[in-house]
Amino acid sequence: MKSTLNISRSALQTNFRAVQSVVGDDVEVLAVVKADAYGHGAALCAPVLAQAGAKWFGVSDVEEGAIVRAAVGAGARILVMCGMEFGDAAAMLAHDLTPVVWRPAHIIALQEAALAANLYCRVHLEIDTGMTRQGCAIGAELADLLGQLQNASHVICEGVMSHLCCAESAGAESTRRQQARFTEALEQISQAGATPAYIHLANSSAVDEGSTAVALRGAANACRAKLMVRPGFALYGHVLPLEGAAGDAARLSTHLTPALTWSTSITDVRDISPGTTVGYGATYVATRDMRLALLPVGYADGFRRAASSGLGDGWVMIAGKRAPVVGRVSMNLTVVDVTDIASVEVGDDAMLLGEGVSAEDHAQWSGTIAYDVLCGIRGNRLLSH
Ligand SMILES: *Cc1c(COP(=O)(O)O)cnc(C)c1O
Repeated sequence: MKSTLNISRSALQTNFRAVQSVVGDDVEVLAVVKADAYGHGAALCAPVLAQAGAKWFGVSDVEEGAIVRAAVGAGARILVMCGMEFGDAAAMLAHDLTPVVWRPAHIIALQEAALAANLYCRVHLEIDTGMTRQGCAIGAELADLLGQLQNASHVICEGVMSHLCCAESAGAESTRRQQARFTEALEQISQAGATPAYIHLANSSAVDEGSTAVALRGAANACRAKLMVRPGFALYGHVLPLEGAAGDAARLSTHLTPALTWSTSITDVRDISPGTTVGYGATYVATRDMRLALLPVGYADGFRRAASSGLGDGWVMIAGKRAPVVGRVSMNLTVVDVTDIASVEVGDDAMLLGEGVSAEDHAQWSGTIAYDVLCGIRGNRLLSH
């Protein structure tokens, strides 16, 4: 690989502590390290977050759970958030993972595996409060699920969760509705005699926005459960702009530091004269004498084709200055303009993402969100101070 992802240990830890201090010490902060820690490397980041105080980790699936288990060791708790497959039950137990479940069939599979392994399996129930993705509906569906749990001697309801669809929108009607439905589900669960130890709804934006903590406090007290939050994006130093908020309502955004810088080095430099075309499609035609630098990264590495000149008009940073992309980004190569940057040489560093070129800039060029950009970056990962 021709590029390096530098992950800052201190930024990860600062961000974790920022979340913890915003939510308060009585709230459990589950560190979401799914999707390979949003491209930062789950095996690299999870132990760093554990040192900062994280006792819970959120992963996508069983395979990632096993990787994080190996990285953080026994004792830490690992929630498998993005869909349990029935064939996963034995592996969940073998790696001491905690699945999110919402169908009676999940419980049946886990009960069988738990009996076979002579272990108990703790699960978190997901309630569908309006995301319409995972989760069980309040009422008859939830009653079925709770009934199945009562029959399952070796499956324990340790947590109840849901997920917000519009957390970055301050005072959103849909958020209020989801908070109310979640509270209603907790009442149904309590009435059925289940006693979850944790309840959780908030992602990074919900922590930033703040209303979810207020809305759930009473429900947590009523069922004597601990509140938990599930930040991911914020741990890596990002949060979406809080929409519709008055003044400085965002509680988190000013305390975060991006944890990733992505860099490469220049592999060639050449001078061209007016009329020369650059790259696929000959979309760029030089109108003056130019000096170009070649970078050994392209869209296969996650430097999006949308950064091409004439499309998103992306740039990289060389010697602290913007070097605009020239022509189309290729699969493994990108050409940038260094005409106005003094004495650029082969081997010089080029910052692909970092100071002067943020994940949010990449997202802007590509018509997407920074989450998507971060998850797509490939290169050698290095943990730095
Ligand atoms: C991804 C995810 C999160 C974390 O969301 P962020 O916006 O990155 O903080 C929390 N909960 C669930 C269920 C998720 O899938």
